[in-house]
Amino acid sequence: MKISIVGAGAMGSLFGGLLAESGNEVTLIDVNDAHIGAVRTQGLRLATDGGERQVTALKALRPEDAVGFPDLLLVFTKTLHTSAALSGVGHLIGPDVHVLSLQNGLGNVEKIAGFVPPERVLIGVTTWPADMVGPGHVQSHGKGVVRLMAADGIERPFVSQVAEVLTKAGLDCTSDRTVWAAIWEKVAFNAALNSICAVSGCTVDELGKVPDGSRLANDVVTEVLSVAMRMGIDVDPAKCWGNVANAIARHRGHKPSMLQDVLAGRRTEVESINGAVVALAGPLNIKLPVTETLLSLVRLAETRANA
Ligand code: NAD
Repeated sequence: MKISIVGAGAMGSLFGGLLAESGNEVTLIDVNDAHIGAVRTQGLRLATDGGERQVTALKALRPEDAVGFPDLLLVFTKTLHTSAALSGVGHLIGPDVHVLSLQNGLGNVEKIAGFVPPERVLIGVTTWPADMVGPGHVQSHGKGVVRLMAADGIERPFVSQVAEVLTKAGLDCTSDRTVWAAIWEKVAFNAALNSICAVSGCTVDELGKVPDGSRLANDVVTEVLSVAMRMGIDVDPAKCWGNVANAIARHRGHKPSMLQDVLAGRRTEVESINGAVVALAGPLNIKLPVTETLLSLVRLAETRANA
C-alpha cells in the first residue's frame, strides 16, 4: 500500500518504519528539518523489542516537497497541529485518498472531515508507545494494539485492508465497530493522569504517594465517562479505574506527554482531551468540576510555560 504519514515524530516514525519494513511504499512527512534530514541521509534508526536497526526503504520529506496521491494518509501530529498539517499536505489528498487518525483525544474526525468527505475518514486508537530519542531515532518497547473503523460506521473493504496491512507490519490491528468506547476510555485515562501530572509536576507513580492523587484521577475518569454514557457509548468505568490504578502502581518515573510539553514550554493536547469533554458536557447539562478545574489549571500552566 502507498502510505504517507503526516506528523512523523515518535508515533509516525514507529508506524512508518514498521510499515516500510513490511513492504509498503512509505513517505514520512514532517516540518522538523533535523529529523527529516537525518532519516533522509542515514535512514530511520528504530529501536523496538525486535532490536535496533536502520530502516532505509522509506522517504522523508517536508510537506511542500511531497508529491503524488497515497492510498492512505496517516495523521500523527499532536492534535493541536492537525488542521495546519492537513492544509500543508492538501496537494496529496486526491479523489481516492483515505485519511486515518490514531491520535489521542476527541474531535479528530471533525477536523479531518474539513479536508476529505466523511466516507474516506478512518478513526481509531492505539496502545503502542513511542518516544523520540533524537533526530532520526525513535524507540518503542513493549507491545500494543490498534483498533480502527470507518468514521461513519459503514464497513468497507478498504478498512479491513488497512487493518491487514497494519497487522502484517506487526502492529496487531483489528477493524472494530466499538472503537468509540476504547477512544473514550483512553480520553478518560489521559484526562486524569496527563492533566493532574501537568499541573502538579508529579510523575505518574508519585500520584500514589498521597490519597489525593488517586482520588482526583478516579473523579476525572468518573466525570469523563459520565459524558460518554450519556451519549450512548458503552464504556466500562471499572476497567478504566483499574487501568489508572495500574499505571500509578507501575509507571515509575513516567512523565506523561502533557507534563513533558509544559516543562518544555510547548502547548499541550489538553483542548482535545479535557477541553473537548467539557465542551460536550455543557449542552448535556453535565457538570465536570474536577475535569474543568484541571483544564483551567493546564491552560494557566501553558501560559506560564510560554512566558
Ligand atoms: P510527536 O510530537 O513525537 O510527533 C508529532 C510530529 O508532528 C512532530 O514530529 C512534529 O514536527 C510534527 N508536526 C507538527 N506540525 C506539523 C505540520 N504542520 N506538518 C507536518 N508535521 C507536523 O508526537 P507523538 O508522541 O508521535 O504523538 C502523536 C499523536 O499520537 C498524539 O495525538 C499523541 O497523543 C498520540 N499518541 C502518542 C503515543 C506515544 O506513546 N507517543 C501513544 C499513543 C498515541
